Amino acid sequence: MYINGKWTAGRSQQTREILNPYNREVIATVPRGSRADAIDAIEAARAAFDQGEWRQVRAAERGELLFETAQKIKQNKQELAELETLNTGKTLTESLADMDGIAGVFQYYAGLADKDGGMMIESPNPHSVSRAVREPVGVCGLIAPWNYPLLQASWKLAPALAAGNTVVLKPAEITPLTSIKIFEIFEEVGFPPGVANLVLGPGSTVGAELAENDQVDLISFTGGGEAGRAIMKAAANNFKRISMELGGKNPNIVFADAEFETAVDYALNAVFFHAGQVCSAGARLLVEASIHDRFVEAVVERAKQIRIGNGFAEETQMGPLISAEHLASVEAYIRQGLEEGAALVLGGKRPSSPELQQGFFLEPTIFTNCHTGMRIVQEESFGPVLTVEKFETEAEAVRLANDSLYGLAGAVWTRDMNRAERVVRQLRMGTTWINDFHPYFPQAPWGGYKQSGIGRELSHIGLEEYTEVKHIYMNTNPQPMHWFGQVQAKPSEVL
Ligand code: NAD
Repeated sequence: MYINGKWTAGRSQQTREILNPYNREVIATVPRGSRADAIDAIEAARAAFDQGEWRQVRAAERGELLFETAQKIKQNKQELAELETLNTGKTLTESLADMDGIAGVFQYYAGLADKDGGMMIESPNPHSVSRAVREPVGVCGLIAPWNYPLLQASWKLAPALAAGNTVVLKPAEITPLTSIKIFEIFEEVGFPPGVANLVLGPGSTVGAELAENDQVDLISFTGGGEAGRAIMKAAANNFKRISMELGGKNPNIVFADAEFETAVDYALNAVFFHAGQVCSAGARLLVEASIHDRFVEAVVERAKQIRIGNGFAEETQMGPLISAEHLASVEAYIRQGLEEGAALVLGGKRPSSPELQQGFFLEPTIFTNCHTGMRIVQEESFGPVLTVEKFETEAEAVRLANDSLYGLAGAVWTRDMNRAERVVRQLRMGTTWINDFHPYFPQAPWGGYKQSGIGRELSHIGLEEYTEVKHIYMNTNPQPMHWFGQVQAKPSEVL
């Protein structure tokens, strides 16, 4: 762990073994942090914000530090990607793409750090100057999930530091390896002690401390709804600013006029990418009735050929799930689908290949005959499981797509651009794609409607989340008001 510019094993000296989900081998032993460690990190971040040199570091210099971080990520891309694959099981190709995205986020916020000079305000008083400036919020607690360990952390670290905050990052307990590396990079590029702190450990202790502690000014969380609710309640303690990136159950709507082969191709990519462990996974496929059977058949045929295996092997297209617990929860979800009467047309079980027996693998799974009354359509499996629904009309497609507690992302496939525009404007989701699925980049905001979250990450909006706005008013011709204690003038005369 990295607290106040020093590497530490923590107060309790307890450890946690980190597993490779491909074969359950122990790949690292890391400190298991405690509440006491979280408090140390919060105090360090507080002191660095309130008393340290960091507040005097100009925005352009903060940008420079972030730019150097981006450069080092690029230089160490292969090592970082290999660590991510080792820890998550995702294919190396995916991890390499993640690292490009991570370097891109640091580079983007490096450039944005000194771009907002505030705003002049038209004041009603002619002898005055009125302006608003953005200032850092203070100490930010950043809590990240395991599916995109460094990517999700970087969406928080880069804007928080660009805005001049100090931070405490808590990665998911099972995927800390690349977060440790990025703190080595922070140390190399020279962030002052206490500005960026890393505490490993469970959500129930380290994460809860970040959410509860009144020395923390902002909490930014990516993860599931249950933890999100607990954090929101705890954050009410001192009215922390909160930002939440939660789950999704994202519809992928295919109209009959869509370019068939491309839509099939993307339907697979939408859901089976990273074995479905993607918050924006297109796990709900909605297909227009006239092409439904042919479309589903094509998707199933191609899904049968997905090569599951070791993320390091070049031929692998889909890796394992993250953990035994998560595998069990996705299997329970599949059983639920069967009980609810959905038709299992592919997968639903662990693969039989001897090579895959040690890992947390699950076959690509497809259910048809699904409807929005089913839990498997409403709930996020976070695994390689696709549910298929059928619709007759555009209005029905929109209604079904919106019939969800979630509102993270959705896509529409059609050659009719007027229809595409009509549909996406009606979708209650933070990100919508037309004839595509999954693209995200630092310039575009990311976040959810409804129970998919609060606030936005990425883009200039993501930076603003880490700022307070201060109004500064200057009277350029101050004169006595004579309001109080002057018998000669009445208040109405001085105004
Ligand atoms: P999770 O909620 O179990 O854990 C996320 C993080 O929160 C971990 O670091 C965990 O230790 C911590 N945590 C858990 N309980 C906590 C508590 N009571 N107080 C403070 N911290 C606590 O989620 P997960 O299983 O790691 O991630 C999967 C979930 O994340 C899915 O629901 C997925 O959709 C969501 N997700 C959303 C986005 C997005 O951008 N919207 C991105 C990735 C993942």
